[in-house]
Amino acid sequence: MAAHKVILDESEMPTHWYNVVADMPNPPAPPLGPDGKPVGPEQMLQIFSMPILEQEMSAERWIPIPEPVREIYRLWRPSPLCRAERLEKMLGTPAKIYYKNESVSPAGSHKPNSAVAQAYFNKQAGIKRMTTETGAGQWGSSLAFAAQMFEIELRVYMVKVSYEQKPFRRSMMQTWGAEVLASPTNLTQSGRNALARDPNNPGSLGLAISEAVEEAAGRDDTKYGLGSVLNHVLLHQTVIGLEAKKQFEKIKVYPDMIFAPCGGGSNFAGVAFPFFADKAAGKKVRLVAVEPSSCPTLTKGHYAYDFGDESGYTPLMLMYTLGHDFMPPSIHAGGLRYHGDSPLVSQLLKEGLVEALAVPQVATFAAGVQFARAEGIIPAPESNHAIRAVIDEALNCKKTGEPKVLFFNLSGHGHFDMASYDRYLAGKLEDYDYPAAEIQAALDRLPKVG
Ligand SMILES: *Cc1c(COP(=O)(O)O)cnc(C)c1O
Repeated sequence: MAAHKVILDESEMPTHWYNVVADMPNPPAPPLGPDGKPVGPEQMLQIFSMPILEQEMSAERWIPIPEPVREIYRLWRPSPLCRAERLEKMLGTPAKIYYKNESVSPAGSHKPNSAVAQAYFNKQAGIKRMTTETGAGQWGSSLAFAAQMFEIELRVYMVKVSYEQKPFRRSMMQTWGAEVLASPTNLTQSGRNALARDPNNPGSLGLAISEAVEEAAGRDDTKYGLGSVLNHVLLHQTVIGLEAKKQFEKIKVYPDMIFAPCGGGSNFAGVAFPFFADKAAGKKVRLVAVEPSSCPTLTKGHYAYDFGDESGYTPLMLMYTLGHDFMPPSIHAGGLRYHGDSPLVSQLLKEGLVEALAVPQVATFAAGVQFARAEGIIPAPESNHAIRAVIDEALNCKKTGEPKVLFFNLSGHGHFDMASYDRYLAGKLEDYDYPAAEIQAALDRLPKVG
């Protein structure tokens, strides 16, 4: 067997994040206000601190990773690049399969890469408190960990159904010292309105965003943190792909295709964008975002200006969207249930520079179980989307005899998702048909711009 892991020394950890904007053929489309005019920094500064906003708007290719951030990264970074040789054998494929293991972080996913940076820059800007939202708890627990590292108070608005059904991510957040509230609450106007409409409102991610943003906008000492979608979040995640490039260099291998699950786009961007730099310089490499066929933003959405949240609180962003009030079926990969996608990922897809494909739920769990039986690690349901696509490509290589190098981001482990695995193993998991009628109805309600 070949060596299983490629490990970097802590001293080899990247010193800068990579900003893809520097290599994009066209500048990113600006976010717009309700009047159709680009939003000014003043409006954004109500909820984001200055250093975060500067990164959001930067076109610099390299942005330094501050030493205190690198110090926290070192608690688990550099993460290993692994060869899934047992899976290759199980599949009987000539393809070589590699994965970056982001499940080794304290929160168990890639999300702390941005959470740590956001907590640090807010601390630098004199911020004492942060707010955020969380669905199943992946982002909330990552920011709870990061806020604790920089002694920032954190309040998490957690979607009420998840708060009740997924108590252990809540316990993680509380262990790291965060305050966790079931959203909707009666502390914000958005929450009170929702409760007035329905006292038993189960909550939604869009509503929890509205609550967290509203609180941050109303207090000078408090800023908001978002776990994906925005440029600065994608930027922070590039530490994944930058490490991977060094690791591949060490073994003199270069991937033919790179896969990542895609919800808001940050882990796809994190692993793929540093390789996009090579692609922009003429290198052949395919970058594939994998999404659920029940929430097919990139593959079936419209490329249009839309709100980032359900209640229309955020600026309008040009992105692939299913409509801001599209309610995706409640699939078990909660991290991929978002109506929109990162504007940067969307623009590169629109320009034909990255690819997207959609896979159905049951097949993703079959792939995750096969991976667990070959490689040991039980992946997050989100990660299973990339694994499905990789296995399909590897089986394709078996037919054609091509020894392609396939690389994916194992974005997290599934230890808090065993109830979903239970349902799969009991044969109770369903595929949801592509909800074409609901998507069309939501697209008909897209905001009119200009
Ligand atoms: C949040 C999450 C994703 C999706 O990441 P995006 O950056 O929103 O695309 C994928 N995998 C895991 C484990 C996650 O927690």
